[in-house]
Amino acid sequence: MSGAMAAAAETAASDGLKKGIAEFYDESSGLWENIWGDHMHHGYYDKGVSADISDHRSAQIRMVEEALRFAGVNSDDSSEKPKKIVDVGCGIGGSSRYLAKKYGADCCGITLSPVQAQRAQALAVAEGLADKVSFQVADALNQPFADGEFDLIWSMESGEHMPDKTKFVSELARVAAPGATIIIVTWCHRDLSPDEVSLKPEEKNLLNKICSAYYLPDWCSAADYVKIAQSLNLQDVMTADWSENVAPFWPAVIKSALTWRGFTSLMQCGWKTIRGAFAMPRMIEGYNKNLIKFAIITCRKPE
Ligand code: SAH
Repeated sequence: MSGAMAAAAETAASDGLKKGIAEFYDESSGLWENIWGDHMHHGYYDKGVSADISDHRSAQIRMVEEALRFAGVNSDDSSEKPKKIVDVGCGIGGSSRYLAKKYGADCCGITLSPVQAQRAQALAVAEGLADKVSFQVADALNQPFADGEFDLIWSMESGEHMPDKTKFVSELARVAAPGATIIIVTWCHRDLSPDEVSLKPEEKNLLNKICSAYYLPDWCSAADYVKIAQSLNLQDVMTADWSENVAPFWPAVIKSALTWRGFTSLMQCGWKTIRGAFAMPRMIEGYNKNLIKFAIITCRKPE
């Protein structure tokens, strides 16, 4: 294949992926909001806690707070509070509205799903935040923002959808102001050991099944993200594995899908959502096999 043909094939693949992501979230976000609320991400739990605990909403808020704490984003010192935040892969804007309220900051959210952008905006109006937060359909890999616009860059569980992780992190860095903090919380595969060049075939098989259900491209490890951040000269690069802290999440999601309300709502959704529901046990399998890692990666743009 010529270089031009290879590039065209890559663009077509990435357009197909974006369309799939947009349709998946257009279709499934209403169901998620009905059952789980406006945060479309894992909860953070104390290690070893049972999946039966009922306060998952607090666990999702705790996830946001733990991410801020890990990154050292200060909420006490008003001079260090973020003033302008970008929420990359914003869902229906749960984080954006939470952060805007917490810091009194302006927040811009982007998503590929028109239904999500509209719903996020409607919720902002309902919460009296219309002058603080705004949402639009835009690609994280080609953001509609000027260089250096934001002092907090927030990506909660969207990195796994990005087909080009280097481009993803470099866009986050581009829109970051000097000194801004970048927070990426994302699904990764386990780090490879020094004698490995790739995952095992059975591991790749399991991830491939998850990829088709959730519109994900190839996965990478937290170590890969660290390398990318370092190659872009980002500073204070830190990472942690929070897999054990999110362990109760998927069992709880499955349990909610098996309630009468969850089940009947699911059956009213399209096949993309139903297929996603059937892939949920594979996420648990991936965590149990130490293949899937729930990772946070944070860094800072140099001053
Ligand atoms: N951060 C949100 C939503 C997580 S779901 C929350 O925690 O509630 C993943 C989100 O990533 C969806 O909103 C999806 O539209 C978005 N996304 C995936 N790929 C994207 C891309 N290339 N550009 C912008 N958003 C993207």
